[in-house]
Amino acid sequence: MPPVYLDHAATTPLDPRVMEAMQPFFGAQFGNASSVHALGRQARFAVEAAREKAAALLGVEPGGIVFTSGGTEANNMALASAQGLLTCAAEHESVLRSAEALHALGRPVCVLKPGEQGAARIEDIVQALDSEACAGVSMASVLHANNETGALSPVRDMAAACGERGLLFHCDAVQTAGYGMVPAADLVTISGHKFYGPKGVGALIARAGVDVEPLMRGGRQERGRRAGTENVAAIVGFARALELAFEEKAFRTRHAEAMRDRLRDGVRAACGQRVRMVTPPDSDAAAPHILGVVVPPVEERPVDGEMLLLNMDMENICVSAGSACTSGAIEPSHVLLAMGLDRDTASAFLRFSVGLRTTEEAVDRAVEALDRVLRRMIPRALAP
Ligand code: PMP
Repeated sequence: MPPVYLDHAATTPLDPRVMEAMQPFFGAQFGNASSVHALGRQARFAVEAAREKAAALLGVEPGGIVFTSGGTEANNMALASAQGLLTCAAEHESVLRSAEALHALGRPVCVLKPGEQGAARIEDIVQALDSEACAGVSMASVLHANNETGALSPVRDMAAACGERGLLFHCDAVQTAGYGMVPAADLVTISGHKFYGPKGVGALIARAGVDVEPLMRGGRQERGRRAGTENVAAIVGFARALELAFEEKAFRTRHAEAMRDRLRDGVRAACGQRVRMVTPPDSDAAAPHILGVVVPPVEERPVDGEMLLLNMDMENICVSAGSACTSGAIEPSHVLLAMGLDRDTASAFLRFSVGLRTTEEAVDRAVEALDRVLRRMIPRALAP
C-alpha cells in the first residue's frame, strides 16, 4: 500500500496542471529573461505574465511582487531592512533568526510570547507597541497561521495597529496562501511548494510605496531587488499554482477542514486521554489543514518523540514532529515551548497536515496507526 501522506504543511506534491505550465521552460523556451533576443524575450514575457497573474490574484501592483527562492528568503528579505522589530516567539525560524541578526546589529528587537495555541494576541501586540521597550521598532512581523499548530493570529487588526502607529507590518502567510487567505499587510511572504507548486520559489509581496532592500546583489533582476537569473519555469509554476489555489479555494478549504475534523474526531475516539490536541478547536481560529497532537508523559515518564515519529513512519504514515526545518535533530518544538508546554510534553509532538488528495480512508488509516503505535509504546497506559 502506498504511504499515507499527511505532511502537507511541510510540502505538497506538484499539481500536474502546474507541471504542464512549466514544461516548455525546461525545453524549447530555455532563454534567459535578461537576453534581448527572441528566446530571451519569450522568457521575460513568461516571467512578467506570471507576475501580473499573481499580482491580480493578490490585489497588488505587479511591481510589488519580488520572486524569491521561497518563504525563507522572503522572510529574510522582509526583515533585513527593519530598523527595529516586534515579533513573536512562535514564528518560523527564518523570522526568529533574522530577528537575532537585527539584534546583533544593535537594533531594538522585542519578542512576545504567543497565546496558548501558538497565535500572537492583538492585545499583547498593542501593549508592546506602546511600551518603552519597543521604542525604535519600525516593523512588526507575525505569522498568519502557525505552521505547527495551525493557530491563526488576528493579523488584520495587527496590520491596522501598526499602520496607526506608522510602523510596517509583515505577515508570513506561507501556510494560508494555498487556501486563498492572504492578509492585507505592507509585506507578505508566500511559498509555492506549500500549494502544489514547485519547490524553491516564493514571493515577497510589498504594498505600493514599501521599499524592499536586496539581499542578493549583482544584477538588476526583479527591479534591482533580487539579483540573479530568474528561475523562469519555477516562477511560471508558482503563478499557475497560486491561480489554481484561488480558483479552488472553497473546495480546498472545505475538503481540508472535513479531513482535519475527521482526523481530530478519530484520534480523540481512538486515543482518548493518551493525547492532547494543540490546535484550536474552533475552525475560525485555525488554518484548515493542520492538526497538532502531543502525547503527554505517562506516569511522569516522557514519551519518546523520535520513536513516535519513527513508529508512524514504520506504519507508512508520513507526518512531522514539528516543523520539517528543525526535524532530523528532534528538539522540542520552540513553538510548543513558547506556548508554555513543558519540555517532556512538547517533545512528543506529531503534526498531521491534510491536503487536496487526502481521503477519508487515509485519515482512518492514520488514526488506526497512531492507536497501534501508542499501544506499542505505552502499553501500561492502556490498562483498563
Ligand atoms: N514560513 C512558514 C510558516 C513555513 O511553514 C515555512 C516552511 N516550513 C517557511 C516559512 C519557509 O518556506 P520555504 O520552505 O519556502 O523556505
